[in-house]
Amino acid sequence: MSQSYPPDQSLDPEHWDTFRAQAHAALDHALDNLQQVRERPVWQVVPEAVKQELAAFTFDEPAGTAQTLADVERLILPYATGNIHPRFFGWVQGSGTPGGVLATALAASMNSNVGGRDHGAVYVERTVVDWARRVFGLPEGAGGMLLSGTSMATLVALGAARTVKAGFDVREDGLRTGPELVVYTSTAAHMSVEKACELLGLGRRSLVRIPVDDHDRMDVRALDLQIAADLAAGRQPFCVVATAGTVDAGAFDDLQAISAVCHAHQLWLHVDGAFGAWLRIVPEQAHQVAGIELADSLAFDFHKWLHVPYDAGCVLVRKRAHLEQTFAAPVSYLARGARGLAGANPWFCDLGPELSRGFRALSVWFTLREHGSRRLGEKVLENCRQAQYLAAHAPSQPHLRVMAPVASSVVCLRFMPEGLSDDVLDALNADIVADLQEHGWAAPSTTRRHDHVVIRVNITNHRTRLEDLDALLHFITASGTARLATLHSGA
Ligand SMILES: *Cc1c(COP(=O)(O)O)cnc(C)c1O
Repeated sequence: MSQSYPPDQSLDPEHWDTFRAQAHAALDHALDNLQQVRERPVWQVVPEAVKQELAAFTFDEPAGTAQTLADVERLILPYATGNIHPRFFGWVQGSGTPGGVLATALAASMNSNVGGRDHGAVYVERTVVDWARRVFGLPEGAGGMLLSGTSMATLVALGAARTVKAGFDVREDGLRTGPELVVYTSTAAHMSVEKACELLGLGRRSLVRIPVDDHDRMDVRALDLQIAADLAAGRQPFCVVATAGTVDAGAFDDLQAISAVCHAHQLWLHVDGAFGAWLRIVPEQAHQVAGIELADSLAFDFHKWLHVPYDAGCVLVRKRAHLEQTFAAPVSYLARGARGLAGANPWFCDLGPELSRGFRALSVWFTLREHGSRRLGEKVLENCRQAQYLAAHAPSQPHLRVMAPVASSVVCLRFMPEGLSDDVLDALNADIVADLQEHGWAAPSTTRRHDHVVIRVNITNHRTRLEDLDALLHFITASGTARLATLHSGA
């Protein structure tokens, strides 16, 4: 008896040879993008027509591989953020690597779901998490996982802190009962700490902001006094979030002193080391993160200063059991096996909120393996030296001032000719930054220092050379001078 099957209707290519040629061409295009990045503008605005065309896709009928690739090359690839460019200095972003392109494509070919089960990707993720554990000096028994970034890592870590320190069963009862829980961080801390407190149901009011000194470091004595005052008022302090590398000025809290305060009051110490934690792998700079090994939890990114392609953040918790206590939930459809594919307990879904999770770890592993941590650390140190170079040379430009001490990768500048009001200077500096971006010359960003708008230059970029910083100073002066002329001509 013969049975007839329908023709092959999978989503695989009908003609693999054709697909292969298209794939090779696409990879070449991606590599051209990287190899020639220096010759292109840092950034360009997405034209209205392109936005409209993108918004109009309905996806009803198949376009096929060739047409889809052509769309990507025309409508998407030209309009990158710019953070692969040597003169991208905005916010804190990593530059990616050509190897990262390969790792991403190879991981996609495996299409691993790393929520759990017994397969290679799990061991790769365990390897990179354990490498990080050793780098940051946490004991065996610590655990963690990759997440989209430090924002998610901080959310997960504070979730664990809340479970462990609440003193009542938060998972069962939520926050309906129990005392008022309090978290502390500095006024220079990242807004992701605030978001985490909101999402955990603690509310923004539970987050107390401790003032900083003139180097943007948390005032540890003020922290101690505030904790004592809150205890006296019947609140329940449970966690301090210290920052290793603040976003505005790249400053480092005194982790040892903060840890001592946490220890005295039995509080959980979480460290936000999104980019700054990596000073740990730079012998000349590691003193700035001394005490990071005392943290109960740590959040940091591989996608910023280590240049792993987006997205790749990481949470580490001193006792892995605290993550399991917070997130593990036995259910029959996720039963573990002593043998077969359902082995390799614990699963990553026991350690965090995600069940389906991609193979981020391959990009991390690939980058570490390909370049080695010593070389990556040398690039971090080079950026720190470049920041010092920029701060040293900026004052020789007309009207340019350095507005904050430079501790790591961040330099805050302000173009401030005499005789202009603060408001005018604020607008002028914001305009200079937008000018540089729109010309495609360079892409710093802005922030405020002591309530003044400043040009914020962050150098976490393995492609930046000193000549790029000279060019940046030249562009700032050119734009500032041109704008000043317009102001004076009474326009
Ligand atoms: C970037 C950053 C974050 C947020 O990290 P994501 O990876 O963007 O979620 C938190 N804290 C600091 C200090 C940062 O620089």
